[in-house]
Amino acid sequence: MEVVDVAIVGGGPAGSSCAAFCAVAGLRVALIEREKFPREKVCGDCVNPACLSVLNRLGLGHEIQKSPHAIAEAVDFISINGRTVRATFQEGARIINIKRSIFDHCLLERARELGAQVHEEATVVSLARTRERGWKIDIVRDTFRTRVLVGADGRNSTVARLCNLLPRPERERIALQAHIPLPRDFGNRIVLQFLPQGYSGQAPVNDHELNLCLVGTPPTIYSLRTWAEQHFNLRADQTWRTITPLTREPIAAGQENLFFIGDAARVVEPFTGEGIYYALRSGELAAAAITKIIRGEDQSTFAKATADGQSQDRQSILREFARAHRAMYRGRLWINQLARSAVLSPRFASRLLAITPISAPILRGLTRTIVTSITAPL
Ligand SMILES: Cc1cc2nc3c(=O)[nH]c(=O)nc-3n(C[C@H](O)[C@H](O)[C@H](O)COP(=O)(O)OP(=O)(O)OC[C@H]3O[C@@H](n4cnc5c(N)ncnc54)[C@H](O)[C@@H]3O)c2cc1C
Repeated sequence: MEVVDVAIVGGGPAGSSCAAFCAVAGLRVALIEREKFPREKVCGDCVNPACLSVLNRLGLGHEIQKSPHAIAEAVDFISINGRTVRATFQEGARIINIKRSIFDHCLLERARELGAQVHEEATVVSLARTRERGWKIDIVRDTFRTRVLVGADGRNSTVARLCNLLPRPERERIALQAHIPLPRDFGNRIVLQFLPQGYSGQAPVNDHELNLCLVGTPPTIYSLRTWAEQHFNLRADQTWRTITPLTREPIAAGQENLFFIGDAARVVEPFTGEGIYYALRSGELAAAAITKIIRGEDQSTFAKATADGQSQDRQSILREFARAHRAMYRGRLWINQLARSAVLSPRFASRLLAITPISAPILRGLTRTIVTSITAPL
């Protein structure tokens, strides 16, 4: 049995960021990841410029920028009937498109270098609260005891499920993703294309591969894939990755000795290319809160026990974390909702796109808002 201060389940951007910042603060960290890295993940592979500030604080900005990647300088919105509205980014802004196998591996290795114990190919199978207000975590061949548990295990979080905090989705959609040969003359752009069956996102990730995402419903996803196979002349043995569902009710991100970060907190849908930023930043915010909790408990003079046994300090730390977590999304959730509506109703979105004098300035404004570096205080 291993004893740690914090156990983080999931080694994506949220879990690795949280593990790295906790390790820097001197905590004993276990990062438990189901897969063996490097691995791909269903994603558009677009890294919003806002990520760079967190990556720089992790000492990774330079490494990511020298890894194989492509740069996007504009987004083309294409309606069902082929009408295109282009939104270029403001001067100096650019999106880095990088395969998640590369990006996530850099982050996981950084967490390891900084002192986190990384356990790959380790799936959490059961969780139990202990009498000492901590957790016992069973993975297939090992057991951990921890004071704080972090669910960073994505949209369909096992930690949330084992804690009975995973509601059923209301309306299910399916995403498919593949890396395919880059069509000639694709250009430095991201394409967001509405189709009668759903939606497709396309982004070059290096000089020879295109990230292709398709989002549809169970009845339409097969014909969406057929469209992609014909449109991009794909081989019959093309590999596709998949994830479903994409929507669930959000969850409280910080609760006594349990945190949910990144997609596991389920605040946004994955349609505005900001999920990686929220994952990195929520990992950083949770690490700051967890460090205060552990240090406060270690210096017992800080902890004044209340009637329910929870220290005052912990409650104010949790409130502060919840405020910072909400602030991270402030002013951006409505754009996410708008993107969601467009994806759910591609025909309606296409009709709006056709009214170019109205749609063009709106789309340019929204794109610039999303691709603006988010400067959040620590
Ligand atoms: C179609 C689509 C397109 C997207 N495009 C973009 C984009 O272009 N840009 C962007 O910023 N965001 C995009 N996103 C969102 C982005 O992928 C997520 O927001 C981001 O990956 C969240 O990071 P995370 O660390 O919270 O979770 P994840 O990246 O999902 O990582 C979770 C990790 O937990 C592990 N895990 C799961 N269960 C267990 C378990 N039981 N035990 C141990 N480990 C476990 C998984 O193996 C995984 O490594 C997209 C999402 C989708 C679906």
